[in-house]
Amino acid sequence: MQRGRQRHKFESAFFVLLAIILGALVLVVHMAKRLFEETATVARLDGIDDIARISILAAMLVGTAFLFGLFLYYPLVREQVREDERLRAMADALSERSESMELAALTDGLTGLKNRRFFDEALREYIDAFRSVGRSVGLVMIDLDHFKSINDRFGHDIGDEVLRTVAYRLAGLARHHDVVARLGGEEFALIVPNLNYDQLVSLVETMRISLAGSPVSCARGQVAVTASFGLALWNGSERAGDLYRRTDRLLYAAKNTGRNCVCA
Ligand code: GH3
Ligand code: MG
Ligand code: MG
Repeated sequence: MQRGRQRHKFESAFFVLLAIILGALVLVVHMAKRLFEETATVARLDGIDDIARISILAAMLVGTAFLFGLFLYYPLVREQVREDERLRAMADALSERSESMELAALTDGLTGLKNRRFFDEALREYIDAFRSVGRSVGLVMIDLDHFKSINDRFGHDIGDEVLRTVAYRLAGLARHHDVVARLGGEEFALIVPNLNYDQLVSLVETMRISLAGSPVSCARGQVAVTASFGLALWNGSERAGDLYRRTDRLLYAAKNTGRNCVCA
């Protein structure tokens, strides 16, 4: 937009220049005419004094400059402007494409949630940023229970639909600035800043009940789905990888406790 306006200015500036040259031409012709009338007649050309002679020469030069600008230089300006437009359109299309590729590189294609790569970076960034301000960072890891048997009973497509529905429900219960990611397969994770332990447990219980409480409706009927949850609060000093491994162990404790439960 900004560059488009500059391009327009460039062309307009050229027209202003032509208008100035044209104005100068009119003035010089007018001056030459006046001098010519005062100092000479058509019959006595020798009577034209030096100033009148110079004025005619100046008028010829300015007129030539005007014609040169209009018929030779202006087409070049227009061609340059068109070339700039073409290049700019190409650059815009490329940058749009690279933006959408960048987004695609950080998004899980099946569910539209953030992907593993985004999650890893976000966890590191949250922990680095919160180290100095002393705020809480909660990490929740989620694994669907016996998901393989859902695939086996209902087929892979219904399995995908279940994954999308689970993603939708988790994202719906998370807050705007929580990171909700699909880490791969039937595993999800959340980064939840600024909640204390009780608030975090309550949020995760709500998620567990939301999944277990209402089966997913699909073309082949109702699919009951439950999940196991591991959750941990960052202890204020551990690294992202340590927090991740600690939460993962809690998730597996939830699996061993009988599934469809939260271990914190
Ligand atoms: P557990 O309760 O111990 O977690 O058992 P589980 O069956 O959920 O775990 P397991 O790791 O044995 O199986 C996970 C299954 O998830 C196996 C794999 O086929 C399925 N899966 C992984 N990714 C996808 C996917 O994108 N779509 C579908 N439909 N299934 C997937
Ligand atoms: Mg798993
Ligand atoms: Mg599983």
